[in-house]
Amino acid sequence: MKQRILTGDRPTGPLHLGHYVGSLVNRVKLQDEYDCFFIIADYQVLTDHLKETATIGENIREIVLDYLSVGIDPQKSTIFIQSKIPAITELTMYFSFLVTLPRLQRNPTVKDEAKTYGVTNISYGFLGYPISQAADILAFKADLIPVGQDQLPHIEQTREIVRSFNRVFGKEVFALPEPLVGEIPVLVGTDGTNKMSKSLDNFVAFAHSPEETERRILNMVTDRKRAYRKDLGHPDECFAFKYWSVFAPTDTLLVRQECETAARGCKECKAQLAKKLNEHLVEIRERRQCYVSQPDLVWDILAAGTKRARAVAAETLEEVREAMKISFPRLRVSMKRGK
Ligand code: ATP
Ligand code: MG
Repeated sequence: MKQRILTGDRPTGPLHLGHYVGSLVNRVKLQDEYDCFFIIADYQVLTDHLKETATIGENIREIVLDYLSVGIDPQKSTIFIQSKIPAITELTMYFSFLVTLPRLQRNPTVKDEAKTYGVTNISYGFLGYPISQAADILAFKADLIPVGQDQLPHIEQTREIVRSFNRVFGKEVFALPEPLVGEIPVLVGTDGTNKMSKSLDNFVAFAHSPEETERRILNMVTDRKRAYRKDLGHPDECFAFKYWSVFAPTDTLLVRQECETAARGCKECKAQLAKKLNEHLVEIRERRQCYVSQPDLVWDILAAGTKRARAVAAETLEEVREAMKISFPRLRVSMKRGK
């Protein structure tokens, strides 16, 4: 039996370069070796985008197109929608009794997100979403979780839930999942301040045109210490240089030398960088174009994935109910509506 991977994305917008280096590269690499489940976490959108639910459907479609275009293969991997797996919702309920309020309030990623997205009156659902994320992972008994650095506190929370569930109910139902952080744990956005993020306008998406990519890169923050073209640059403190080292590492020696001697200015440096990125993205964008023209494809993939995910999660749920002694085998009611 292959080990399992579970990871995913919030449908808050199209995927960007941060996802690519933080998680997607690992996902594509591992999909032959592992039984992969990729979740589109629509409950998590409600945490800080409650008034934008009308965009969720289109964002789900965009994300699946992005998956396909980077090389995720729905024949090998299961792609599904979180809210369409009832077992995840039920597990979230059970797990919520294993986590204290102060523990949730200490989660640094939740605190950061509330601050970055300007959420002042944090809801019960927002504070508790790491529990629902634990349910996502544990519903599939995933062994490995490829994520960006911001997700590590949630994996730790999941591991605590595993320990406490197994201890409280006296049965080793769950094993401890391990995180797998990408080669670049966090890619800073074009604002040079925050993590590149769908919810902030600081990203370069696969779905962007080459012209839009160039516009975004040209607007990017570079070296805050270099005020004039003639000033010598500081590549190690420049955000554009970070992108060079991630996306065109073989050019960094030359870029560094020209920057440090002021032989290149920031504007031409960014124009060249945009060109490199566009070259890097050509294939992904061509594939994306090909999938966009097939309107039912995404929804058919999601229907098949959701069906498979439901079956796996339902098995785990039954095991959980038994361990908790709340499976009531003599109670015969169908869960279908109206029966
Ligand atoms: P949002 O702004 O809506 O939170 P996001 O850009 O943070 O969107 P998520 O869907 O929250 O994207 O994250 C999906 C996965 O991608 C997570 O594993 C996360 O750690 C990873 N990830 C997202 N942004 C980056 C980044 N800038 N660098 C590295 N990894 C990232
Ligand atoms: Mg996020």
